[in-house]
Amino acid sequence: MSAPAACIAANLDRVRQRIATAADAAGRSADDVTLLAVTKYVGLPEVQALVAAGCHELGESRPQALWEKAAEPLGPVHWHLIGHLQRNKVRRTVPDVAMIHSVDSERLLAAIDEAAADLDRSMRVLLEVNTSGDDAKHGWSPDQLRLLFPMLNKFAHVEIRGLMTMASRAGGTDVARENFAALRHLRDELRDASPGVGSLDELSMGMSGDLEAAIAEGATIVRVGSALFEGLRR
Ligand SMILES: *Cc1c(COP(=O)(O)O)cnc(C)c1O
Repeated sequence: MSAPAACIAANLDRVRQRIATAADAAGRSADDVTLLAVTKYVGLPEVQALVAAGCHELGESRPQALWEKAAEPLGPVHWHLIGHLQRNKVRRTVPDVAMIHSVDSERLLAAIDEAAADLDRSMRVLLEVNTSGDDAKHGWSPDQLRLLFPMLNKFAHVEIRGLMTMASRAGGTDVARENFAALRHLRDELRDASPGVGSLDELSMGMSGDLEAAIAEGATIVRVGSALFEGLRR
């Protein structure tokens, strides 16, 4: 094993241990938390090392970078788009991904529905919510989504599996945890009010710096990048 691969494998062990410890502290099973490895900082050799170490759920924030990596023969992996998607990139993206975490408009949802219909498949998506109120972040405000959500059952080729958020970076872990709790509460509320629209089982929240807080608040998918690639010479 080359040094970078050993480093990545050790980092992966450490991240899995953090997930296990956080799940345990929350009285949850670590099996209920999926580690999504965010590969946006690295190239193909590092992605290959990650896959060899047993990581099969991979995420990219830029569509172009996802297309490039998804074209490589990496074995049985699933790609997730976690960053902003423009409508003109939907057709090129849908065939490559298992899930789109960053749906932030009804028009985008309509475009995904159309592209999935043409492929005769359905596309799993998460709705992105701006829980921090940070203007620079994408996503619906909770109030916008409360109004819109009951109408989102009209897309036959889209499965709305849950919600996604990025916590505030400014406020530290306490504020991040409030953002994560807000996402869970919103999910519970939407599911109760409109049970037919989507399963809403997934909460995609938590990154390298705040995954423990996210797991405490019910994250089912944590999106981890930098902690997997620490110590690599780049
Ligand atoms: C980069 C990124 C992550 C991973 O962030 P790290 O702090 O490097 O773990 C998670 N989610 C999204 C949407 C990202 O763009």
